[in-house]
Amino acid sequence: MTRTQTSEDLFARARQIVPGGVNSPVRAFGAVGGTPRFMAAGEGPYITDVDGNRYVDLVCSWGPMILGHRHPAVVSAVEEALARGLSFGTATEGEVRLAEEIVSRVGPVEKVRLVSSGTEATMSAVRLARGFTGRSKVVKFAGCYHGHVDALLASAGSGVVTFGLPDTPGVTGASAADTIVLPYNAMEAVEEAFRQFEIACVITEACPANMGVVPPAEGFNRRLRELCAEHGALLIVDEVLTGFRVSAAGWYGLEPVEADLMTFGKVMGGGLPAAAFGGRADVMALLAPEGPVYQAGTLSGNPLACAAGLATLRACDDDVYDRLDASALVIGRAASDALAAAGVPHRLQRAGNLFSIFFTDRPVTDFDTARTQNAEAYRAFFHSMLDQGVYLPPSAYEAWFVSAAHDDEALTRVAEALPAAAKAAA
Ligand code: PLP
Repeated sequence: MTRTQTSEDLFARARQIVPGGVNSPVRAFGAVGGTPRFMAAGEGPYITDVDGNRYVDLVCSWGPMILGHRHPAVVSAVEEALARGLSFGTATEGEVRLAEEIVSRVGPVEKVRLVSSGTEATMSAVRLARGFTGRSKVVKFAGCYHGHVDALLASAGSGVVTFGLPDTPGVTGASAADTIVLPYNAMEAVEEAFRQFEIACVITEACPANMGVVPPAEGFNRRLRELCAEHGALLIVDEVLTGFRVSAAGWYGLEPVEADLMTFGKVMGGGLPAAAFGGRADVMALLAPEGPVYQAGTLSGNPLACAAGLATLRACDDDVYDRLDASALVIGRAASDALAAAGVPHRLQRAGNLFSIFFTDRPVTDFDTARTQNAEAYRAFFHSMLDQGVYLPPSAYEAWFVSAAHDDEALTRVAEALPAAAKAAA
């Protein structure tokens, strides 16, 4: 028996019947190798696998678990909702409360529609932008990930880059033909695209974190705002990852650029499937049943998801954001110091409490520079941390996520594991 025998057995069983053995590609450890751990439970900053190994969790379900696992307020809100029923397929009060919470926090969102995943949110926002403008072309940036929407998969970050997929078979030429992919942070390229094409919308991550964390250059988002307004296009700011994570109002709280449409997910569901898109009232008015642009969902605004999301957002007070900022700073610096001491070329990139370590000595400002990373070094680093009980993203192209439950003990465990992992990466 190895100390991961049960995970190995489950993975073997899963691969018989589930493609790659997983329900989302990065979970398969394809980029780092080895057996993906099957998790059994989580508590605060820790997750425990089916073999009983406990890890400090620096993935936090890819963002949603901002309060840590099994936060009492979230658990009791879900239990209360559970006692009333799982799903009705009707309007419920919880949806109104969650929508009000979002609208009250994020200035540009006058009206909001709840969906179940970030992918649905961006897909619907793009459809709405096309419906509103009567135009087809969408600008997206290389390395930005907006979910697995056909039109938005070109040169995408997250799992798409992790697995080195250039384009995805199954996306027809026709559905990609209206997507213009531009290098991130390259304003001249955006200006040129606006000169050449009639553009329906520009979609951008508020602060990209799916090719690792690549902050927008000073003024980049603001200039996108101006260009879209000048040319009658809509600006869609994707805050699925940053929303309610980097501040109570998400990235908008740090850099108040007025988008026409915004998308949310992850934190706003508190660990259950809830996401949203929203924005200008005149644009949102085009959505069915008010307007002709169709969008719907059997489980949209699910009562349990709304309860978890609302409890999570309400528990995220200033103290939570202070803790997240402090923990991100401590872990990021400790990792960078350990790598420097071991002579491993790397860049620590931070934006608010979002951060990632690039295993390269080049400053990373776009997708091309992000891909100068030494994948082998990350692989060695990742496995050493895992063996020492720290669960990092199983891909070099992801942000590391902290939660408000990451206390001194959890941070110390991470700090103690770093020197050996840095040596392994050298
Ligand atoms: N947009 C961004 C910025 C994301 O980070 C993600 C997921 O990682 C998505 C959209 C897609 O969200 P989901 O995985 O919930 O479909």
